[in-house]
Amino acid sequence: MSDALLQIRGLKVVFDGFTALDGVDLTVGHGELRFLIGPNGAGKTTLIDVVTGLTRPAAGSVSFAGTELTGRREHRIVRLGIGRTFQTSVVFEELTVLENLDLAAGFRRPLPTLLLRRRGVPDAVAAALDTIGLGALADRPAGVLSHGQRQWLEIGMLIAQRPRLLLLDEPVAGMGRGERERTGELLTEIAREHTVVVVEHDMEFLRRYASQVTVLHEGRVLVEGDVATVQADPRVQEVYLGR
Ligand code: ADP
Repeated sequence: MSDALLQIRGLKVVFDGFTALDGVDLTVGHGELRFLIGPNGAGKTTLIDVVTGLTRPAAGSVSFAGTELTGRREHRIVRLGIGRTFQTSVVFEELTVLENLDLAAGFRRPLPTLLLRRRGVPDAVAAALDTIGLGALADRPAGVLSHGQRQWLEIGMLIAQRPRLLLLDEPVAGMGRGERERTGELLTEIAREHTVVVVEHDMEFLRRYASQVTVLHEGRVLVEGDVATVQADPRVQEVYLGR
């Protein structure tokens, strides 16, 4: 694909003799919303860890907008425009929603909400707050948020950094039905302006919100394609759906 934003070739990761990724190729185009699925242990998080510089591959290349990422440090990769969420929370509970977003935006030292309001909330922070739909809770401490709202705040914290690529690790884990729907809508909205890769297990969620899906299994790409094609593939049903 000529307009690839992320291009992974022959990626191999070995942990103490165990091959976690074994020759993975993955191309994600500009503006794509790509879902990455697969059974536990398939290598999904490892793949994200390599792209974000947390794990060094034994072989292969990761090219982002034409820049080779392997061998680069995490903070350099963040600066190139790649943001990710973690399965553990990075929200500061005693800071307000607005302060968390402002802190993440990282333009300067974070300001208290009152001062932020007086000086004018930076555009990137205001836009992130609007996108995640937490405007009514902007001045409340993040500690009072529900599980779902906290996940949205974390996504907002990424958006506030204006990344070109967002990597989201199981964003609907632990959410109820309503929160899942809101998250699906949020992802769809974010994907209008960003390229997004989502690791997700929930098949119902995929059916509703995914278009392009890559299935990993035992460190390899098993199948790739639109959600209907992937779901109908007998290999996918065997290793994933038929569990
Ligand atoms: P997934 O996200 O698809 O569930 P992971 O990428 O977390 O899978 O893990 C892939 C495989 O690599 C698993 O078998 C896991 O136990 C192993 N693994 C992941 N990280 C490490 C590590 N730091 N050391 C050793 N093995 C690891």
